[in-house]
Amino acid sequence: MKRHAFSAAAVSGAILGAAMFASPAMAQEEKFITIGTGGQTGVYYVVGQSICRFVNQNAEETGIRCNAPSTGGSVANVNGIRGGEYTMGVAQSDVQYQAYNGTGNFEGNAYEDLRAVFKVHGEPLTILARADSGIETLDDLEGKRVNIGNPGSGQRNTMEVVMDAKGWTQDSFSLASQLDAAEMASALADNNIDAMAYVVGHPNGAIQEATTTVDSHLVPLNDDTVKSLVEEYPYYSMSVIPGGMYKGNDEDVETFGVAATFVTSADADEDLVYEAVKAVFDNFDRFKRLHPAFANLKPEEMVADGLSAPLHEGAARYYREQGWIE
Ligand code: GLU
Repeated sequence: MKRHAFSAAAVSGAILGAAMFASPAMAQEEKFITIGTGGQTGVYYVVGQSICRFVNQNAEETGIRCNAPSTGGSVANVNGIRGGEYTMGVAQSDVQYQAYNGTGNFEGNAYEDLRAVFKVHGEPLTILARADSGIETLDDLEGKRVNIGNPGSGQRNTMEVVMDAKGWTQDSFSLASQLDAAEMASALADNNIDAMAYVVGHPNGAIQEATTTVDSHLVPLNDDTVKSLVEEYPYYSMSVIPGGMYKGNDEDVETFGVAATFVTSADADEDLVYEAVKAVFDNFDRFKRLHPAFANLKPEEMVADGLSAPLHEGAARYYREQGWIE
């Protein structure tokens, strides 16, 4: 009897489940958004997860399902969008500029169909060094064991710009490791590297993990080489990592950086991009609370600054409706 009741409940549950599944999303075509992010201890991962959270809240209505896997970072995301693996992705403003204009690592390989969606948080080039490494300045990195970032990451791209400006190659370091963002903190703590380079919003999990497991400090990056890079390239600016965010790092540290931006392809469906943008800005106060790096975001700045590729039409439609652009 009991068994019978159980299976009847299971059967009716299954019917109910099927019925729920069949309507109303079945009525329209299911669409998918895959967002390229970064390592799980960074901020891009939170950007992607947060966007998907709001997109998925409307799934019944829109038929759009969103997921945001961890990836190798900016360059991997842009290449993944180009190759059709990701619908959208997060990319540093310098990488967006270089990809669209065919400069830097994209020399001779411009991606003209890259489209901007919005700017997100600021991301300084962040060098964290072990206290016992003797590294106090950018020049002190020479001859040391430095994680310059995995190929495909934004930090690798930016570090190569810095290395070029300094006349350094990978041989300028005693070790130039290429660990993924999520592996750097433990490598620093285990004394496998002296310093790690990360272009990232603050505070973030990787720097938090490293500073709480090993005595380490943020290195100021404000010498003449850095200042001339900031003068030369429109997408770099001086910035400050505020003191007090990380254990043992109470003072402000001056460095330079870029902005995180959200990008897609000209080929991406206009309604899909519109719905993603709408999901973020319709829930903007909640979005801003999902990470401290989002706290000071302002829509008018997000749709105007740090974008070098043209706005995607789906995004532009929403911004026009809001009166944020002409
Ligand atoms: N800026 C890094 C990159 O482009 C990622 C930072 C993050 O994951 O928050 O690879």
